[in-house]
Amino acid sequence: MPPYVKKGPSEAVLRAHELDAAPLESLSPEEQRKRADRERKRTERKAAKEVEAKKEAAERAEKACATREQWWETQRAKLPPKERMEMETLHAQMMEYTSIMREYNQGIAGTDERPQDLEDTKNEVRELHSKYSTTTIVLPQLFWRDKGLFDAIAARATPDNRYGQNCLAYFQYGYLQGLEGFAYQEFEQRFLRPKKAPAEPTTGVIVCEDCGYQSIVPLEVVGWYTKPRPNGKMYKYECPLCKVTNATMPERKALSTEEIHEKIVRHQENKRGEEANDERFSPFDKYGRIRTD
Ligand SMILES: [Zn+2]
Repeated sequence: MPPYVKKGPSEAVLRAHELDAAPLESLSPEEQRKRADRERKRTERKAAKEVEAKKEAAERAEKACATREQWWETQRAKLPPKERMEMETLHAQMMEYTSIMREYNQGIAGTDERPQDLEDTKNEVRELHSKYSTTTIVLPQLFWRDKGLFDAIAARATPDNRYGQNCLAYFQYGYLQGLEGFAYQEFEQRFLRPKKAPAEPTTGVIVCEDCGYQSIVPLEVVGWYTKPRPNGKMYKYECPLCKVTNATMPERKALSTEEIHEKIVRHQENKRGEEANDERFSPFDKYGRIRTD
């Protein structure tokens, strides 16, 4: 027979049907056992199919949820009652402290209370944080349909990562199992951090090697001239005025730093003296250039 012609039921199957239809007492014990086996397998297959169908229906129902609360309800229903109760209890506690922190953050709480109340709250928050950590998770719309997101969150929920576990619990069940992260961060910044030490200086003084003028510049710039550059060279710092002067007055370049300083000192001394206006003693000529004679 060519292979594309559909074969009818095999001899063995036909025989089995025949035996299933026959009165039980007409069968040999061996045939009775086989028939019982066939019936058992049929029942098992039917039950397995029903389980599969139920699962598929449940998945379809989960995917069809319109709000996250609806979806979370489908997930919560899968939790063993004891576990669910524990999670709900912790969730309620975390919600309470999250709203307390928010009130302090917004300045609603703490205005008409004794200072001790804030101290107590701070200590409680510190304790809860060290025990339960935080949860920060921003869930997109219909997040439960995003398998990639779920896998990414689940991957972080390792046994030693409390924060990761909290994120997963919130994603899956909508239960806060740690303090809400944004509220905690703000509370921590406002109330839990010790007052900062005076800020590190960000500027420093740099001295012009030509004229001795002191400029206040970012520390980074000081570093450029006090440490060798990546090419290993040291560079000379010139104040902006000297830079321009050096570029436009070639004779100025011929003077050493000491000579320029000497001229400046002489100029300053002369200013104090009687010859302050005598241009012979000025380091500058009548055009305002440094004298080189
Ligand atoms: Zn200078």
